[in-house]
Amino acid sequence: MHTGRKPNCPEARLRVLNGHPVKPDGKYVLYWMNAARRVRWNYALDHAVQLATELQKPLIVLEALRCGYPFASDRIHQFVLQGMLDNQAALERTDVHYYPYVESTVGAGKGLLRNLAQSACCVVTDDSPATFLPRMTAAAASQALVRMEAVDSNGVLPMAEAGRAFHRAYDFRRFLQRRLAPHLAQPPKRDSVTGAKLRRLRGLPGPITKRWPVATPSLLNAKPHSLRTLPIDHEVSGTNLRGGASEGRKLLQRFTREPQGLANYGAGRNHPDQASTSGLSPFLHFGHISSHEVLHAVQQQEGWTPENIRPLRSGARNGWWGMSEASEGFLDQLITWRELGLNFAAHRDDIQSFDSLPDWARNTLDQHSADPRPHTYSLAEFDCAATHDPLWNAAQTELRESGRMHNYLRMLWGKKILHWSPSPRAALGVMLELNDRYALDGRDPNSYSGIFWVLGRYDRAWGPERPVFGKVRYMSSKNTRRKLRLADYLRQWGSEDQCSLFPA
Ligand SMILES: Cc1cc2nc3c(=O)[nH]c(=O)nc-3n(C[C@H](O)[C@H](O)[C@H](O)COP(=O)(O)OP(=O)(O)OC[C@H]3O[C@@H](n4cnc5c(N)ncnc54)[C@H](O)[C@@H]3O)c2cc1C
Repeated sequence: MHTGRKPNCPEARLRVLNGHPVKPDGKYVLYWMNAARRVRWNYALDHAVQLATELQKPLIVLEALRCGYPFASDRIHQFVLQGMLDNQAALERTDVHYYPYVESTVGAGKGLLRNLAQSACCVVTDDSPATFLPRMTAAAASQALVRMEAVDSNGVLPMAEAGRAFHRAYDFRRFLQRRLAPHLAQPPKRDSVTGAKLRRLRGLPGPITKRWPVATPSLLNAKPHSLRTLPIDHEVSGTNLRGGASEGRKLLQRFTREPQGLANYGAGRNHPDQASTSGLSPFLHFGHISSHEVLHAVQQQEGWTPENIRPLRSGARNGWWGMSEASEGFLDQLITWRELGLNFAAHRDDIQSFDSLPDWARNTLDQHSADPRPHTYSLAEFDCAATHDPLWNAAQTELRESGRMHNYLRMLWGKKILHWSPSPRAALGVMLELNDRYALDGRDPNSYSGIFWVLGRYDRAWGPERPVFGKVRYMSSKNTRRKLRLADYLRQWGSEDQCSLFPA
């Protein structure tokens, strides 16, 4: 494609972003890593390594962290910085030149990419559909005076394959059952860097590092005192969940190998007292781990080979992969549900808008918009976990303090915000604000799948029609408490006195 050979990633994953040619006399190939923040199982890195090898040029990996992104906070910064530290360590022993940059003031990083691109043969970047990234990438491509290409490392199905937005998980699963198999045979490389024959860069251009200094080890260590100097939200504090590829991989190993994890996923995933889910969503969100790597670990655990896959076309959830029920259930979340969100984000630019709901859901919610509510709370009251419901308050406290919330409780959490807000649109605003601000995995296509599922996306109409909810699926704390094992969870996160919004 560039040098007469096919790209080192499937063509369906590659997008040329501008009309400039590759410059063979450039000084290096530049990979601007901004979504798939990892050095293994990464199609964009595979592609950049091949390009640099063919052109016999050094490869620079630029991983930058701005401070003006939406909801920038100690929590998000810490997680991303820990991932950068891992990437630095992983690339230290290789010929790839890693350039970590962390903005010290809003806008300080402006111009870095454009300047670095000036001496590049080509810029490779990640093709992510999440929130501000498509706009940022398009703007960078229009300013670069060299060829810029984006590579989709988001999921197991290339985003371009579907060609349209799907509105039901069942239809998307049927599509996957017909079209996924050939893509399973083209995973990214587990490691494209070790052993690659790359020229070494003598050093980054001095004027560039003078203006945009390489991040210091102390900053990458993300200690509270170094975060304190940055203009980000310090009220949303760091958590004890460490970010980065190595922690993500440890979690994956524990999940797939320990009896409480994958093997118990079917029976245990809904119960907050049982740690039977993977906990991988923040790592998937920041690209610290690849869904291909997760799939590979599940396949290994199952002793699976491609011949096991069944020629199913019905859209049924079980009996497709030819694995245990627990693993099939897990892969349905990791692949069908996760990639349904990626599919919507890739094909719609109104993913966060109330009007993107299916007609039946919008109509029924609008018809019941003025119904009297049993309780109404403001954003500040929800934020402080100051409702009348101890279970809801515990879930919100978990989110605010740990950056996580159990999946089943996330559904209840959203349904009750809908129930106790003055209108469905107000409820949407509260869910977006709290989830994106506090959740480590927030600001993700999955965030909007989950939040809009609360309001009817990907669901069907349910009876009986109820006040406030109309035909949208209803959930209650009473039923949840009856169905789930929650005692330990409530001991950990529940409290009589949730916050100081209403002093005694
Ligand atoms: C109101 C609401 C808000 C949500 N916000 C987010 C969010 O901000 N970010 C986020 O990643 N997920 C979100 N979800 C979906 C889901 O709750 C989380 O993905 C899941 O709880 C993550 O935990 P885990 O990694 O242990 O999942 P596991 O059960 O171990 O599943 C493995 C992976 O599959 C995917 N997955 C699991 N459940 C779902 C689901 N219901 N929809 C889409 N993908 C899924 C995730 O990538 C997850 O990491 C939300 C759901 C609701 C109802």
